Amino acid sequence: MTRIVFSGGTVFDGSSSGLADLVIENDRIVDVGPGLDGDVQVDATGHTLLPGLFDCHVHLLYSNADLVQTLNTPFSLPFYEAIGNMRRTLDCGITTVRDAMGADLGVAEAVRRKLIQGPRLQIAISMVSQTGGHNDDWMACGAHVPFQLEHPGLPNTVADGPDELRRVVRTLVRAGADVIKIASSGGVMSPRSNPMHAHFRDDEIAMIVQEATAAGIAVMSHAMSADGILTAVRNGVRSIEHGVFLDERGIEAMLANGTWLVPTLMAPRMVLDQAAAGVPVSEVILAKAHTVVAQHTTAFRSALDAGVKIAMGTDSGVGPHGNNLNELTLMAEYGMKPAHALQATTRNAAELLGLENELGTLAPGKRADVVMVEGDAEQHVVDGTLKQAIRAVYQDGVQVV
Ligand SMILES: [Zn+2]
Repeated sequence: MTRIVFSGGTVFDGSSSGLADLVIENDRIVDVGPGLDGDVQVDATGHTLLPGLFDCHVHLLYSNADLVQTLNTPFSLPFYEAIGNMRRTLDCGITTVRDAMGADLGVAEAVRRKLIQGPRLQIAISMVSQTGGHNDDWMACGAHVPFQLEHPGLPNTVADGPDELRRVVRTLVRAGADVIKIASSGGVMSPRSNPMHAHFRDDEIAMIVQEATAAGIAVMSHAMSADGILTAVRNGVRSIEHGVFLDERGIEAMLANGTWLVPTLMAPRMVLDQAAAGVPVSEVILAKAHTVVAQHTTAFRSALDAGVKIAMGTDSGVGPHGNNLNELTLMAEYGMKPAHALQATTRNAAELLGLENELGTLAPGKRADVVMVEGDAEQHVVDGTLKQAIRAVYQDGVQVV
């Protein structure tokens, strides 16, 4: 057994930083403290050691918002493109992700069996949405034009009413979902949904949560409209994704229920950036992205000030993978302390995903996911230079970057 000691660095333990050595042995952290020794020494002087980072909202099988390009992409190509997307994610120090739609059980198994190197995966497989909702790909011309075709690993999840939804959730559980993703409001990238409208009624979301709970998994909700957030929260959804039109009532309900917010501040910005770069994005979608972007930061600030629990997520896949750490800089820009942004990306994210006993902090007994950053990680968050400062990434004790 080889003991690797990282000596002389600053250890960020998931909420605060201090000078310490860190020892890993096989796939575990075994010691943190002063004056430790080991068989192999890594000089971490002048560096910050972070726990393996999380991104709680990615789409590894999607690479951009270009529907025309998607239509001209062979069916199985995104599975291979995902390999590069996972590499770009690991390069950010992100060793665990929640895939919010797109990756199926085979993708997750390929990583678990180490056929490919990638972040540890929790998968939602597909998004449960109502007719006309965020996962209904019916275009105004009458054609169905999906971003991703349904296939045996990715069932159709557009459904209405508690009975249909019960079957849909059970179908997703059968297909290997680690989390159920729903859309309790319209969204930006869908052709016919309105982000200001609440989707699903109480009896529908209650059924979804009941079935997910029975299977031992949580529910995450794409929720933009204030009412769509409320319906999700009061029926026991674990996390609100985006939360664009979150208002005082929503914040109160989230605090009362202990609901998480995964802001994905990057998401509408990635759509606007691509449109500016010439990617064909429809007028309808562009108008929605513009409406969302200003309101989003207001909602984020209010949630932050009120003390809503926040975990980091980016929606990478809507835009290119590998820029994930820009989300920390955006959160800091809109008022979050840099240490809190790092906590949202480590300790908090691990708790949201139910992995707090294994990951999210640098403490003895935890998995040896360690990111070594040159200089002061908190300053890099503010400056937007965290990714460039990464010198090494370990996952389960194995150096992957
Ligand atoms: Zn998403």
